[in-house]
Amino acid sequence: MPYIHQLSEDVFSRIAAGEVVERPASMLKELVENSLDAGALKIDVEVTGAGVDSLRIVDDGGGMDAEDVKLCLSRHATSKITSFEDLDTLSTFGFRGEALYAIAAVAKITVTSCTAESKIGWRVTSEGLKVSNGPAPAIPGTTVLVKDLFYNTPARREFLKSDGFERGKLASVIEEAAIANPGVRFTYKSEGRNVLRFDPENSGDAFQDLDLRAAAVLGDDLAGGLLPIDVERPGVRVRMLVSPLDKMPSSRSFQYFFVNKRPVSSRILQQALYKAYGERPSGKHPVCVALIELNADAFDVNVHPGKREIRFKEDGQMFEIVSGLVAAALAKAKAAAPITIAPAEASVVADAPVSTPAPAVAAAQPSGPDGYYLGGRALLPDEFKQLNFGAAVAMSAPEGAPAWYTPPFRFIGQIERAYLLFEANGGLFMLDQHAAAERILFEKLMGEIEHGGAKSQKLMLPIPVDLPASAVRMVLDKSDRLRKLGFDVVAHGKNGLHVTAIPALFGAAEDVKKLVHRIVDALSDPIDEAATLRHDAIATVACKAAVKAHDRLGEEEAYKLLDQLKDCKDGSCCPHGRRAMLALNRDELARRFQRPGAVPL
Ligand code: ADP
Ligand code: MG
Repeated sequence: MPYIHQLSEDVFSRIAAGEVVERPASMLKELVENSLDAGALKIDVEVTGAGVDSLRIVDDGGGMDAEDVKLCLSRHATSKITSFEDLDTLSTFGFRGEALYAIAAVAKITVTSCTAESKIGWRVTSEGLKVSNGPAPAIPGTTVLVKDLFYNTPARREFLKSDGFERGKLASVIEEAAIANPGVRFTYKSEGRNVLRFDPENSGDAFQDLDLRAAAVLGDDLAGGLLPIDVERPGVRVRMLVSPLDKMPSSRSFQYFFVNKRPVSSRILQQALYKAYGERPSGKHPVCVALIELNADAFDVNVHPGKREIRFKEDGQMFEIVSGLVAAALAKAKAAAPITIAPAEASVVADAPVSTPAPAVAAAQPSGPDGYYLGGRALLPDEFKQLNFGAAVAMSAPEGAPAWYTPPFRFIGQIERAYLLFEANGGLFMLDQHAAAERILFEKLMGEIEHGGAKSQKLMLPIPVDLPASAVRMVLDKSDRLRKLGFDVVAHGKNGLHVTAIPALFGAAEDVKKLVHRIVDALSDPIDEAATLRHDAIATVACKAAVKAHDRLGEEEAYKLLDQLKDCKDGSCCPHGRRAMLALNRDELARRFQRPGAVPL
């Protein structure tokens, strides 16, 4: 008995229809959703040519009978809704009967299907204007084979990104579907290689299944130690896994939200998550896997053709629920954490300067409340004379020096282990030591890269970085560019990369993981301009390698920083645009102290 029918004009005119085949991954998403809608428990996908040459998906779902196979490629042909009101009780991913039609318009497609009851299968093929159909072997389930995507619209191929990027996007589709459907077996083969395999999780406990599947997708590194949230409220069921406060990766790419198993990009949900974390260490983002189940009438999927956006009927309520649950889980984990002594406190003592001033010298230090004293240690006139200033205090600025550089500079001290204070020309000159160091390294690295590539250091032991397979592909795809930055990365195992070399300028190997996470973010951004990526990646390397705020710096280092900054093309800010220096010149100081004769504002 056929189920597929054409939606009436009245119905489809109210559906947010439009482009569903933007790239191979958007096509794969539609096809996987069709298989899930058909109740499949096994979904096998195989692509060649990054999904452009061919993409085959085989499922063991309910299948179609011959009549339905003949109809399935037609526009607005669906078995999932009849009236517009059906959207209020929708339990399937599809509803507009457009995906197969849209794919058939831009590619050669063959759909072969058979129901469990049927003695014979059926097949329909569409190649341009030629549509043919006929009998096929009786294998229950459905196979869709798509070939030569965009063969008749070559301009659309131009919009595709590199093969590696498209492969990464394809793998992400499978990863997302796998997280939301732990009971379904997924395999994914690309260019003849088995890339992903997720065996069904059937422990009988839905939360445990989710937990295991999330670990299979994300890898142990990212999935280890996630906090569980499993709550049922009237009309809402929330299952989540989120990072504890002290274990967040440096990437926002590992956040997955599903509403009734549908992967969604929802600002409300994302904001609710971040609200719960409050102030985070800079650059850190929580991992989040959130499966939310709602009654079908509590949200609207008919907002966007890609069905990725949804609208909640009760936005505020959703926000409160998610943010409240995450905050409670974080508070609970914090309460359970063992109490440790803050390392910052301990290191103040350990790092104290070895040469404590002699009592006489100490007495000569500026008196008054500690707060008035500018930190570091006081420079006494005698000591000052003995200092070896080096090039930084040449009496006149060298040719081409920036406008702010008006020597001599006299180092006064360091505040908060973050700012360096100098006197220059009767005024006060302040440097943010981290921003300044970042800028210097950034320009150094840029220079090295422009002259054939950054110097690289081989690591004795490769640094393992666990990532979802989709992210691994994206990073590997850019390995040439990364090599120019001084990195060498190779695939390692199922879920990982090995970083085997890092830029020579990069001091701390333990920051490599953070950096790889940042690179993943930059790469998965659809507007990945080559130049932006390069700028961001170099800026990130510079940022990680630079002296940190909180490093104690002595005079010599302070002068060196100043001197190097002077040679930068743009020393006024760090590569991320944050201010690196501040000055209060002599007039400004006089004015601020309302000295008689001060130049008025
Ligand atoms: P929609 O999913 O919005 O209904 P599609 O164009 O994706 O529209 O699919 C059209 C119809 O073809 C579906 O309604 C369904 O009846 C049938 N169909 C598509 N893929 C499958 C599949 N893998 N298994 C069974 N039926 C399918
Ligand atoms: Mg569909």
